[in-house]
Amino acid sequence: MKTPKNVETHVWRGGIPLESRYTAGLGGQIFFQALKERGELVGTRCAACKQVYVPARAFCERCFAELTEEVKVSPEGTLVSFTFSAYDRDANRLAEPVALALVKLDGATTTMLHRLLRVTSPEQVRIGARVKVVLKPKAKRTGSILDIEGFQLA
Ligand SMILES: [Zn+2]
Repeated sequence: MKTPKNVETHVWRGGIPLESRYTAGLGGQIFFQALKERGELVGTRCAACKQVYVPARAFCERCFAELTEEVKVSPEGTLVSFTFSAYDRDANRLAEPVALALVKLDGATTTMLHRLLRVTSPEQVRIGARVKVVLKPKAKRTGSILDIEGFQLA
């Protein structure tokens, strides 16, 4: 689109102060509270289709049933997939690549993504490997996904 010749183009530059608050929702609250207070991994089970969601959800993503049954799952699981990233989320190159793991915890039917700790190259990892959750000490937990430091190879 062409700008008409008799119209000046003005640009104002500046920032808009915005603050937002994202709630974890009903399912997230169950998960993060158990994680912070008891160091447990809690999901919800769908009575209709038997899915066990970890982290917990309020509704089944497959059959839309309300999920009211809480299930504590194991801190151990199986590595379903992994990748390495050499960049942070702002596209800045990292000093060292980070490993990310997709893990199905024992007792869950869904997978969870988090860091894979103490691994520096793909040769050290194989799909199907057993992994274990590493939690922050209780005094340092805040009720966030970062209360989990990551997974480590078992
Ligand atoms: Zn379901």
